[in-house]
Amino acid sequence: MKKIIFLALFATVSLVAKINVVTTYAYLGEVVKEIGKDNVKVDVLANPTFDPHFIVPKPSLITKLRRADLLVINGGQLEIGWLPPLLRGAQNRNINIGSKGFLDVSGVINMINKPAVVSRAQGDVHPDGNPHFVLDPHNISVIAKLIAKKLVLLDYANKTAYENNLQSFLQDWESYLKEYDAKMAVCKDKKVVQYHQLFNYFLQRYDYALVGNIEPLPGISPSSKDALKTINLMQEKGVNTILQDVYHEKKTAAFIAEKTGAKVIVLPHDVGSVEGTDTLKSFYNTIEERLCR
Ligand SMILES: [Zn+2]
Repeated sequence: MKKIIFLALFATVSLVAKINVVTTYAYLGEVVKEIGKDNVKVDVLANPTFDPHFIVPKPSLITKLRRADLLVINGGQLEIGWLPPLLRGAQNRNINIGSKGFLDVSGVINMINKPAVVSRAQGDVHPDGNPHFVLDPHNISVIAKLIAKKLVLLDYANKTAYENNLQSFLQDWESYLKEYDAKMAVCKDKKVVQYHQLFNYFLQRYDYALVGNIEPLPGISPSSKDALKTINLMQEKGVNTILQDVYHEKKTAAFIAEKTGAKVIVLPHDVGSVEGTDTLKSFYNTIEERLCR
């Protein structure tokens, strides 16, 4: 009898084929898990402590792509420096750009900082605009809707489950955003400089004045002359806060802080970038806590 029950259980479990979803970044993995729940298996390519523009390619990443039914990317050219060779290595036609199992979420985002002219002289510019839109928590809702649509398209049998999961996620997220926005509204000292054009969406959402970037141009390391320029700018404009990410060198910010008396705040750029940020909410909460308390 026991054996029969076991066999019956085994048969049910093995009948439920999960959708293998690979996402480039951790935050996308979290959204997919919220919408897909038990019907998906999620793998993330990028280590969230690395520079998101330059993820070190490893054979294990190709293996993940080879097995994928769906690839979800940030887009806006954020993956342009590292994903194409991995896709070529994986040779998985289901997930190539433009195929049914491919999703670029940047398509539903209002991208900011679009360059008027695209030229190498402007540094490593992103011609589609600033791709770091995950920093605005309001963007998560539109991304969740897009992901739900794609999961329904790939797995119609579970349409109701995906739609219900989306509804409960959106309801919860909207109430979370209300609380979050209220906390940010009373946050003080809203004049900052940052290392890279990384936190622009967050800064714009919460009415910060971004006075400058430590990098002279995107992707170009600052010289000591650039650092002096930033120091002068900060003193002139009365800036007391430097936003630093986890993956750029920290010497320049420390030097500028020493000369200006400003404080350096290290902020995560993705889920899991710093300790205690392994969910969407704890990621955004950590930004608020580090900035406002
Ligand atoms: Zn960038």
